[in-house]
Amino acid sequence: MYELLKRIVADCAPSASLGHVATYIPELANVDPNKLGIYVSSEDGKQYFAGDHLEPFTMQSVVKPLILLQALMDSGEDAVRTLVGVEATGKPFDAFNYSDQALNSANINPMINTGAIALCTLIHGETYEEKFSRLLALARKLAGNPELNVDHAVYVSEKKTGNKNRALGYMLTAYGMITDPVEEILDCYFRACSISVNCRDLARIAHIFANHGIHPETWEQMFPATYAKYVNATLATCGMYDGSGEFALAVGFPAKSGVGGGIMGVIPHRMGIGVFAPALDKHGNSVAGVQALAKLSQILDLSIY
Ligand code: GLN
Repeated sequence: MYELLKRIVADCAPSASLGHVATYIPELANVDPNKLGIYVSSEDGKQYFAGDHLEPFTMQSVVKPLILLQALMDSGEDAVRTLVGVEATGKPFDAFNYSDQALNSANINPMINTGAIALCTLIHGETYEEKFSRLLALARKLAGNPELNVDHAVYVSEKKTGNKNRALGYMLTAYGMITDPVEEILDCYFRACSISVNCRDLARIAHIFANHGIHPETWEQMFPATYAKYVNATLATCGMYDGSGEFALAVGFPAKSGVGGGIMGVIPHRMGIGVFAPALDKHGNSVAGVQALAKLSQILDLSIY
């Protein structure tokens, strides 16, 4: 397995040249586009890795499954479903063109920015500071890494330039979908996106989703199995945005990407995978990361379809 991962890293690294690092969050433009790391938390209880698997990067949209999970745990499935639907939009993750249809729960989902921003309001906490602290605590607990923290430079960079997300937040308010102070909700969202992780953290979180909430080492039920199925289903249909169909064909398991270059792959009942390669395709998905997952999926027969 080590050899296999090494070979995949060597084969896929050159395809970074087919993509571009995100620049709309200025701080993300500073990363080395040629990094590629992979980490597998495997069904045999073993951990396998290759390449830049310990390189830190920000979660960005990979945090969305955790926002959804925290909202489910705090407010329950009915509240979550009422606020944010589950249908794929077929639009970019930050699309704000809702002019032809009212912005309502039926046409957003938890894996696009609008849905994730709305779901921050369903996380419990007296203040948005407290809501964020609870989300960070969940990320630390699932990754088994108490050191996880916000990359301050990326957070400040996105907060300064995140006008599209600001527009989405104000639109949610205008359509009566959220009532809390928008800037506070957005601050929680920006901080969540800026949590710094590595491939191992993502693989460990993914493995718990794969095991329907059961920790693969301690056998502790970390959250209800129904919530794991809820999250995994939305990852399968919407996790790679408007690239989710192609990804289902080429790779074939629930996954979540982020513009930091990370992808978290959930192979139900089997394993969790974390990959990192910061050059992105036109959907905002890691080029080399998707390619590495496609190869691994083919060789290990990981497609669930
Ligand atoms: N923080 C990013 C944004 O809101 C997350 C988007 C992403 O990773 N696709 O634009």
